[in-house]
Amino acid sequence: MYAFEYVRPSTLSEAERALAAQPGAKLLAGGQSLIPALKLRLNRVPLLIDLSAITGLNRIERRGNLLAIGAMTTHAEVAASSVVKAAIPGLVHLAGNIGDPQVRNAGTIGGSLANNDPAADYPAAALALAAMLKTNRQEIAADNHFSGLFAGFAEDEILTEILFPIPRRFAYSKFPNPASRFALVGCAVAQAATGVRVVATGAGANGVFRVPELETALSASFSPDGLKRIVIDSSNLTSDIHGDAEYRAHLIGVMTKRAVDACLA
Ligand SMILES: Cc1cc2nc3c(=O)[nH]c(=O)nc-3n(C[C@H](O)[C@H](O)[C@H](O)COP(=O)(O)OP(=O)(O)OC[C@H]3O[C@@H](n4cnc5c(N)ncnc54)[C@H](O)[C@@H]3O)c2cc1C
Repeated sequence: MYAFEYVRPSTLSEAERALAAQPGAKLLAGGQSLIPALKLRLNRVPLLIDLSAITGLNRIERRGNLLAIGAMTTHAEVAASSVVKAAIPGLVHLAGNIGDPQVRNAGTIGGSLANNDPAADYPAAALALAAMLKTNRQEIAADNHFSGLFAGFAEDEILTEILFPIPRRFAYSKFPNPASRFALVGCAVAQAATGVRVVATGAGANGVFRVPELETALSASFSPDGLKRIVIDSSNLTSDIHGDAEYRAHLIGVMTKRAVDACLA
């Protein structure tokens, strides 16, 4: 690890000022991705701005037809939240299956969405649910955020809150890598008034993506039976030591079917 400065502001505006004053500074949330990257010297920063002392960034509340989750809300807090459970129970299941207890107690929803690892769970949910990502500067539709490998926010932008429209049904199913629990393939299925969305994670080199053929089938009939004959094209999927593209294509079908089963259970 290279040497760096560290500050822990107590307000969002202090954090914004610190970020603006030091080019290359980075925000620190749960540190579950950033600290290992710094330890491995994959990243070098002059200043870390720890967001953990800013009050209000881990608020969870229902606002009409929206579920609002603060960016600094840990995975464990989402997994334990009765508000989330009542609004979008599938998110409780998703958060409760991220990594291990240490990762869930430190890692945050904001850090996960900002980091946008191609095998992470929350990006799939955010895209399937057509979430809005609220920063100190703007609101970004998830549709416009997840547009490439580790695509993040601008250097001076702080994610503050995620707004999830509450769907009719939502579920997420993943086939986890047994070592890390990251998704070898995970699929999020959401049925809302605006239609059905199916999003895969872990399968594409550029991160999460929608699966139109499964969306079309589920829009015609929201049932696992309609998925049986669909063959997912593997030509653009990831092949690595954990599984080849054909295997991942197969898993997209299986995980989507399981998510639909969970939606209907
Ligand atoms: C062993 C292990 C297993 C894991 N398993 C899983 C898994 O099964 N599924 C899964 O999805 N993830 C998994 N993770 C990742 C975990 O979910 C982390 O929570 C996530 O990668 C990053 O969140 P964090 O709060 O730790 O962010 P940090 O590591 O602190 O930050 C990550 C990046 O996001 C930026 N950032 C953080 N907060 C903000 C913000 N509010 N605004 C703008 N930028 C911000 C930081 O500057 C940094 O670039 C695992 C991690 C580990 C170490």
